[in-house]
Amino acid sequence: MTRDTVTRVDVVPPDVLTVLGLPSFDELTPDQVRGAVCVWGAELLTADSAVDLGEHDGPDGRWWPRACRRHTGERAHRGLYDHAPFCEPCADAAERCETSLVLYRLVREGRR
Ligand SMILES: [Zn+2]
Ligand SMILES: [Zn+2]
Repeated sequence: MTRDTVTRVDVVPPDVLTVLGLPSFDELTPDQVRGAVCVWGAELLTADSAVDLGEHDGPDGRWWPRACRRHTGERAHRGLYDHAPFCEPCADAAERCETSLVLYRLVREGRR
């Protein structure tokens, strides 16, 4: 499988996920925990529509939450406003901040 890493964010880096705000394990349904359903909604995910939110430690071991691109984009949009005022690289130039770059990219992908 080839992945276009230039135009698509396949796995959300941990510091970006902090900005997005992952729901706590207890609030999720079993389908959300196993990555079949978006953690921020109720949509069934496909390999193509899903954004991988990385690997996490839960009470029952490792879990790999996923989300749809639309919800991820919405949260990334809000996250940019939360992140930028407190981020030094962003204050200089947003394009120099890796977190901002990924957030912008997720916003764009969510609009497709
Ligand atoms: Zn969703
Ligand atoms: Zn920043």
